[in-house]
Amino acid sequence: MTEINRDTEQKRIVVKVGSSTLSFANGRINLQRIERLAGVLSEVRHAGWELILVSSGAIAVGGGLLGMKKKPERLPEKQALAAVGQAELMKIYQRFFEPFHQTVAQVLLTKDGLQEKTKRINARNTLNRLLEMGILPVINENDTVSTFGIRFGNNDVLAATVAELIHAGLVIILSDIDGLYTADPRKDPQARLIDTVHDLSPTVLRSARGSDNTFGTGGMSVKLDAARICMEAGIDMIIANGKNPEVIAEILEGKKRGTLFKSQKSKD
Ligand code: GLU
Repeated sequence: MTEINRDTEQKRIVVKVGSSTLSFANGRINLQRIERLAGVLSEVRHAGWELILVSSGAIAVGGGLLGMKKKPERLPEKQALAAVGQAELMKIYQRFFEPFHQTVAQVLLTKDGLQEKTKRINARNTLNRLLEMGILPVINENDTVSTFGIRFGNNDVLAATVAELIHAGLVIILSDIDGLYTADPRKDPQARLIDTVHDLSPTVLRSARGSDNTFGTGGMSVKLDAARICMEAGIDMIIANGKNPEVIAEILEGKKRGTLFKSQKSKD
């Protein structure tokens, strides 16, 4: 059984999905997968978990909508695509959550904004109220005012920062890789999936550099930055493969999936 943090009010989970989960390798949006994701998240919500979804994908969806064949190089163009795509992304989520009677809310944040006391309180109050109302907040970085996410795939860190803000018990990062490997599994047949990480030792950090092969913007090193924030805040974090969104429900049933970053402070 995966020993995830299950204490007190920790029925709060943050799930982060990246562009690699939401789109095909050629950049086209994978609607079928989003539909499955909506099904699983609704089921989890109705089972009593409080959920926040951190979703990238705005640039990919914007590019698709405007018929662009490849991702633009320049930042302002990416920001423009994100502005177009964010509205469409929310439309897609609304469409797929609607059959499950699950209302969604768009929340755009920046990591910097969350460092400031008043903004933190405002964001926390809004998110807490949405959760009380049974609404699923769908968070993305506000790419118009912040380019950090676009450049570094910072939504992993944003997910961890939000989890800390609302005292979540668990963050699930869905990626295009099964978890953290000892080396790059696409190059090294000896590479082994690491089941549990208790501390971010130099060996673990080396593994992350060696297996930095995710197709998303972020890569494994950014995921470990997110893991550090979570572990220090007493929040468990799991990196798992998002190709089957059902993995979220399996994790919550206690099945061992992906790599668990066990927080120092969490109780078992
Ligand atoms: N916010 C950007 C988007 O929605 C991506 C950020 C990231 O990849 O983490 O496309």
